[in-house]
Amino acid sequence: MRGAIKLFNIMGISVEMHISFLILPFFFWLMYEWKGIFIIFAIFTCVAAHEFSHSIVAKNYGINVDRITLLPIGGVANMRSLPETPTQELFISIAGPLFNIILTVVLFFPLKALLGEYHLFHPDPLTWPGAVAYAYWVNPVLAGFNLIPAFPMDGGRILRALLARKFSYIKATKIAVNLGHGFALLFAFWALSMRPPNFILLFIALFIFVAASQEESIASMKATLGGIRVKEVVNRQFYSLNPDATIGEVLNLILSSHQEDFPVILEDKLIGLLPRDKIIYALHKKQLEKKVSELMIQDFPVLSEDEYLYSAYNKMENSKLKALPVVEEDKILGIITVEDVSRIYSLFSKGEI
Ligand code: ZN
Repeated sequence: MRGAIKLFNIMGISVEMHISFLILPFFFWLMYEWKGIFIIFAIFTCVAAHEFSHSIVAKNYGINVDRITLLPIGGVANMRSLPETPTQELFISIAGPLFNIILTVVLFFPLKALLGEYHLFHPDPLTWPGAVAYAYWVNPVLAGFNLIPAFPMDGGRILRALLARKFSYIKATKIAVNLGHGFALLFAFWALSMRPPNFILLFIALFIFVAASQEESIASMKATLGGIRVKEVVNRQFYSLNPDATIGEVLNLILSSHQEDFPVILEDKLIGLLPRDKIIYALHKKQLEKKVSELMIQDFPVLSEDEYLYSAYNKMENSKLKALPVVEEDKILGIITVEDVSRIYSLFSKGEI
């Protein structure tokens, strides 16, 4: 994510923090000194634990999580693929808010005993007991905000998963999206009716509205491309490169064929990929003599024949590559490009949206 700094790696997940998290401690310190820093640290921990709860359940279903980005209002767990079934989506989505609710319940009596009833129910960052109470109430607020039944909140996904038991995935998404739009308008109306108007709330309303619309196009993409397997559309007629070939030779190949991304093969084995960006870069730098082996990339996802096209599309999106090789037992069978995917999408999605 833009404006995020990497903090550490844990369980194979890279944890990043958005820079707005750095500005907040400064302001909180100015206002409440160390009590402010404590509150920010507590919010940070609650948001991280929330996202880890999503990630652990996702990993259980075999969905890898690359990255968690922490923002002051919540976090984003970047999953490599989307949940396959509504049940998976339900449990992954519910895990985050559930953790915050459990923490709220578990800490209630110990904190009541420690701080006293007055301080627990009067969170006030100016005193230490009040600051601890303030940090405690972050949990139910996080849970409540994320349970609003509108995309992109967890509540929107939970609602879609529940609706998908009765309706089709697309229909369930549509209902959840409409509800999301409704909530957004309600928030906007509420924000504007305040004196003075609450611009933060108005911004959140706009954010919910846009995110809900995005979710609809993702769902229609998933419904269309989720029904076609890679083997049905893979391009088996393709050119591959020898690692010793030069960019000049690759240029001739591009001009005489329609291919722009090339698998690099040595002794029948796939050893690299030369994507179009690298070729264009080399051409701009006039590096016609440069060897393929110097420019090829070796870290890229591969596709299997039985994979759905939707997962292929996700892999392209996440790796920022425009073409990926289809591989079976180290042998390359063909390639699929982003153009193939969009052509197939426009062919099959007609009349569905
Ligand atoms: Zn969440």
